[in-house]
Amino acid sequence: MKIGWIGLGNMGSPMSQRLINAGYPVTVYNRNKAKEEPLKLIGVTVASSPRLLLEQVDIVIIMVTDDQAIRQVFTGDNGLLGTKTIGKIIINMSTVSPGISKEMASLCSQEGNHYLDAPVSGSVKQAEEGQLVIMVGGNDTILEKAKPIFEHLGKLILHVGGTGAGNTAKLAINILLAFHAQGLAEAVIFARQNEIKTEDLITLINNSALGNVFTKIKGDAIIQNNYRAAFALKHIAKDLRLAKEEGLATPMGETTFKTFQQAKPVLGEEDIIAVIKYISPHSYDALPT
Ligand code: NAP
Repeated sequence: MKIGWIGLGNMGSPMSQRLINAGYPVTVYNRNKAKEEPLKLIGVTVASSPRLLLEQVDIVIIMVTDDQAIRQVFTGDNGLLGTKTIGKIIINMSTVSPGISKEMASLCSQEGNHYLDAPVSGSVKQAEEGQLVIMVGGNDTILEKAKPIFEHLGKLILHVGGTGAGNTAKLAINILLAFHAQGLAEAVIFARQNEIKTEDLITLINNSALGNVFTKIKGDAIIQNNYRAAFALKHIAKDLRLAKEEGLATPMGETTFKTFQQAKPVLGEEDIIAVIKYISPHSYDALPT
């Protein structure tokens, strides 16, 4: 089965690499051509547009930023729509709105192709290790065909409903992710204000019932003052905006929505946990670590 991969960002690169390592013939496309170079060097085929990619493969997997990027990939010049090919499976693993999935699925179906939304939970490390959690919306017969591929990418593949349901489930998870990030940041700030060392607090959290992969990785990031994006803050700002458009109106939902939208212009390219610098920039710099 030939695979086409669109989007070689922080997530798309390690995910596509896993399929290459598993021996699948993979053809890639990325808007910024520089990101294709390392793959070209190891002999991976590159397509010059999404359309040419679709024509060469059986399954196309997309991992791009947002609804706008998806629209571009499908309906832009030489996009995925408007080819004469039929029976292809197009899988959108990006975190986008349920609405755009429904729209693109319907257009794919009119042309005789199939669409699945299959966003993921987990970040770069889980992508590298094939330990993502994959939530799928769409037809289960099509999902069965794609499953052998998903099994190289994730530790759990769950069919959660019809088209767009994967996207809705992903937004629910990212609401909780935003609460975790802001919560961890606020706990650290409070502890620092009261002269508890950050390293000690993180050790305590990680050994308590509240310790988890997130507190471990992001706790280390805070201690090391390393905010290089694994999951860019601008992405959670986008996800909370999408969740709000789908009806998120709870107290913590409103609070985190506001926090991340306001933090985005300054910290959008840094990691989600850089929110700590937005919540308390002054006390953050001034207090002992
Ligand atoms: P990223 O590093 O910012 O990469 C974004 C990718 O989208 C790049 O390949 C980019 O191409 C492409 N792109 C953006 N706009 C485009 C357009 N208009 N047309 C074509 N391609 C376009 O993002 P990421 O971290 O890999 O995240 C990708 C998706 O996965 C997002 O929806 C994100 O919310 C989700 N996600 C991320 C994580 C994580 O931890 N990073 C975890 C779970 C889910 P260029 O190189 O040309 O800019």
